[in-house]
Amino acid sequence: MTGVRKTYSTGVVEVEALRGIDLEIDNGEYLAIMGPSGSGKSTLMHIIGCLDVPTAGSYLLDGTDVSKMSEKQLAEIRNRKIGFVFQQFNLLASLTALRNVELPLVYAGVPAAERRERAMAALDKVGLAQRVQHRPGELSGGQQQRVSVARALVTDPALILADEPTGALDSHSTREILDLFGELNEAGRTIVVITHEADVGQQAKHLVHIYDGLLREAAPIATAGVGR
Ligand code: ADP
Ligand code: ADP
Repeated sequence: MTGVRKTYSTGVVEVEALRGIDLEIDNGEYLAIMGPSGSGKSTLMHIIGCLDVPTAGSYLLDGTDVSKMSEKQLAEIRNRKIGFVFQQFNLLASLTALRNVELPLVYAGVPAAERRERAMAALDKVGLAQRVQHRPGELSGGQQQRVSVARALVTDPALILADEPTGALDSHSTREILDLFGELNEAGRTIVVITHEADVGQQAKHLVHIYDGLLREAAPIATAGVGR
């Protein structure tokens, strides 16, 4: 990401939510982005996740410039390249864990037998092989979030992007999810976590802070290639 700016126009007022973000995230990175409310975290998350495009500056994801893509092209890139994990899990209550994890593969047109096999493997990876037929309401918060991590993994994305992934969890389940992220990263997964919780940020390999639309490295552990 180079010189990324994002301006929102609301009638007469313009808000500059991002004011020149330079950020390089390597393959295999585990980066946490922390910042207070209103600092631009969601805006940055939306751009990293190809949910929105910058007003100015460029963003290359896995070698492809996505900064000027249409809504349709972005949707395609999102499905192929990014696994999302949300604060509220965003699981479908009427579907089993297995069906929830299969969903991204349904959208990708993967045949049923392969879908099932890959979803089972993803659920096994997050330690839920014994819970595949449970519905979200029959699982704890930590287990539900593990299902959503399995759903994020199942497409084998270039990047796992987690937005306040522990915000709805108690301390025990938070630990579970952070351990899981640590394991996945050890196995080579690229993970970006957006959080306002300091202890969650500290678990990542690198930590950067966002204040008022600009990134600052957290001394002394961050060497994630941030500059401005
Ligand atoms: P955070 O996620 O850190 O709370 P946001 O990225 O949501 O920060 O917001 C950064 C700034 O941009 C804030 O001043 C916010 O009010 C403004 N902002 C965010 N989204 C919009 C929008 N859709 N329209 C206008 N202003 C917005
Ligand atoms: P919040 O933090 O407000 O609860 P979420 O974390 O659920 O919101 O979602 C963050 C953003 O991502 C929202 O703008 C939402 O519309 C979008 N979003 C949620 N789920 C998906 C999805 N499966 N695909 C693409 N965008 C999504």
